[in-house]
Amino acid sequence: MNRLNKPVFTKGTIREMEDMSFFIYAKIFDDLLIVAQKQTNCFVLKTSDGLIVIDAIWPVKEAFEAIIDSIEDVGWNPAAIKKLVLTHGHVDHTGCGKWFVERYHADTYLSKIDDIFWNEYPTKPDRPETWKDYKINVYIQDGDTITLGDKTIYVYGTPGHTPGGLSYMFPVKEKGETHMAALWGGTTPPWTKNEVKQYLKSLDYFISEAICRKVDVALSNHTAIDNGLERIMYSKKRLDYMPNIYIIGQDGFQNYCQVFRTLSYEMLEKL
Ligand SMILES: [Zn+2]
Repeated sequence: MNRLNKPVFTKGTIREMEDMSFFIYAKIFDDLLIVAQKQTNCFVLKTSDGLIVIDAIWPVKEAFEAIIDSIEDVGWNPAAIKKLVLTHGHVDHTGCGKWFVERYHADTYLSKIDDIFWNEYPTKPDRPETWKDYKINVYIQDGDTITLGDKTIYVYGTPGHTPGGLSYMFPVKEKGETHMAALWGGTTPPWTKNEVKQYLKSLDYFISEAICRKVDVALSNHTAIDNGLERIMYSKKRLDYMPNIYIIGQDGFQNYCQVFRTLSYEMLEKL
């Protein structure tokens, strides 16, 4: 079998980011839910004091409803949503956040740099319906932590994909046992040489921190990167004696991160 060392991105990939005809979700840990459309996904982390939503897909009501329905389907209560934590200021992650604010009064988290970036450089400048449409309550940066109940999210400043992009690590539980998950916030390398260099520097930093925190779970907010849809489908039907496919081990996490280097080197060759 001929395995690829990187995902294939086409114009169709970009188009599919706005295709809301398909959603899928799975409870991938005792305390972590993933909700995806074809290309983009978000996470819901359950804590002893409510829910934290991480990223918010696309700014359409269907995405919001899919997230809420998924929370209900796994037996959690959407009314317990307390926080919305964003990785970066692109529309496919800031997404449907305004409804979390309106309906659940969720506190919103992002870096100040990306809040300004989101406002000044919308991903789709010609489409006002995708522009910044809600306020950030808490500015976070490298070294910060976000705590709710029994859970703490560790915040890493990983600029490159966007100027103030953030990545996260947080503990998750599988059958009561704790694992450490990592989410690289800005998936693809940027479009200028200096920005790609910054992206690679951030990646080195994130990987070294992941080693310190013994990260053994790889999460992605874009399904193309990590066989995302297949992993969700597997998780949905996983038999109790089959392994959790998100737990890939500490070496596995290092191998996984290689894709971000591969994409960066390919980008540098083009520039
Ligand atoms: Zn992005």
